[in-house]
Amino acid sequence: MDRLPLFLNLRDRRVGVIGDGALAARRVETLFRAGAEVMLFSNAPNDEFNALKGQYQLSDLAAENAFKGCALCYFAPEEGEEPDAALLAQARDAGALVNVADHPDISDFITPSVLDRSPLIVAISTGGDAPLLGRMLKARLETLIPNAYGRLASLAGSGRAALAEKLTNHSARLRFWERIYDGPIAEMVLTGDEMKAMAALDDEISSCQPDGSAAGETQHGEVYLVGAGPGDPDLLTFRAFRLMQRADVVLYDRLVDPAIMDRVRRDAERIYVGKRRSHHAVPQEEIGELMVKLAMQGKRVLRLKGGDPFIFGRGGEEIEKLAEHRIPFQVCPGVTAAAGCSAYAGIPLTHRDHAQSCVFVTGHGRDGPIDLDWSTILRPRQTVAIYMGLAHLDFLMQEFLKHGADPALPVAIVENGTRFNQITVTGNISDITQKAADAGLRGPTIIIAGHVVTLREKLNWYSPKSEAEHGDK
Ligand code: SAH
Repeated sequence: MDRLPLFLNLRDRRVGVIGDGALAARRVETLFRAGAEVMLFSNAPNDEFNALKGQYQLSDLAAENAFKGCALCYFAPEEGEEPDAALLAQARDAGALVNVADHPDISDFITPSVLDRSPLIVAISTGGDAPLLGRMLKARLETLIPNAYGRLASLAGSGRAALAEKLTNHSARLRFWERIYDGPIAEMVLTGDEMKAMAALDDEISSCQPDGSAAGETQHGEVYLVGAGPGDPDLLTFRAFRLMQRADVVLYDRLVDPAIMDRVRRDAERIYVGKRRSHHAVPQEEIGELMVKLAMQGKRVLRLKGGDPFIFGRGGEEIEKLAEHRIPFQVCPGVTAAAGCSAYAGIPLTHRDHAQSCVFVTGHGRDGPIDLDWSTILRPRQTVAIYMGLAHLDFLMQEFLKHGADPALPVAIVENGTRFNQITVTGNISDITQKAADAGLRGPTIIIAGHVVTLREKLNWYSPKSEAEHGDK
């Protein structure tokens, strides 16, 4: 994050606007709306300012200490005109933060695209790189956030103090508001019946239980076992995303990409239960027990797993405990690594000309390389996708050969599939181990063996920066 987003209270604070044209006029208008005392430094304000009489005080740049007391200064030079460096310095010396229109590089702050449903305000910034993109996003949000959401925010504001008095616990208040925003009271506001909504909210506040739930409601915890996919957050399912917003606590491991964790509800408690090969940070049974304990406290527990929870994810083992304790749970599938890697590396796992079947195998057993059933793996016209195979790559390739595989059988290894740092190394059974070592692959990787690998030459569409730098090996 290059810049810190803030919502400034400018009521009765002095702000300078320097310019004569339309842009300066827009700034005056917005700043006046925000309650600022606007000083306009302009020699010849154009017609746009006629409608803004009374919203600004015309000031003189030549005056001594012209910017005295200004918290902010907006410079709006005409198109093609360079901002006056001496004036910028003068404004900064007076203690003001400075913005120069279309010059994010020399600005202390930049102005976002704003969606105003006061008191609900959404501000969007692209760091000055793509203002039009910001405006397009704003237009999309306009359609998603009806006007009535501003009224809903006001309604919540009117009940905040009373609720804070009744419920001192933060998560109880969260639970309360979640119920309100999701339920009939919000619906009343959205359909315009604010009086009724206000009365219903007062009732809810006085009758709710200490944990924020409705009178008479018993609070049950539950568990969501959710597949987060291989890395690219755009591959999350809608359901995964929704459950990520509902959770009170999240248990996650190493394979869950930080970009995905960023999308989990901000105030959810985060517990790392990750494990590395032969190094279990939290033993499996303990994860199950922890989930049971948290759910029994009435919490909504999100167990977030890389890829799909039921493919080499031990998701099944973890929820057995829940079933034994009759704790409600649901399972949300995710894009498994083999599917993600195959798509993003341009290697279809099946293809009518190359492979009619595909097997997913793990290259790692409980205590080392796994003893695989090679008769089912080495079938003609079949693709083999190997999870957790990199550490035993040499051994696995030797096993392929020992069981009769063609030494020229194409193999690809996809590291960090679907992520911005994806790297794909291609070769065959006999040379891939060396190539993987040369490329310095460390994992996580999927190994894909089969004739489908040759299709990559034609179908490779994803070119992350790392592959461009690396060259396709
Ligand atoms: N449940 C997960 C797999 C867990 S096992 C799923 O369905 O994808 C962990 C293994 O998955 C890693 O060792 C690696 O082989 C593979 N993997 C997970 N994410 C990956 C990624 N982004 N790129 C390549 N392989 C990945």
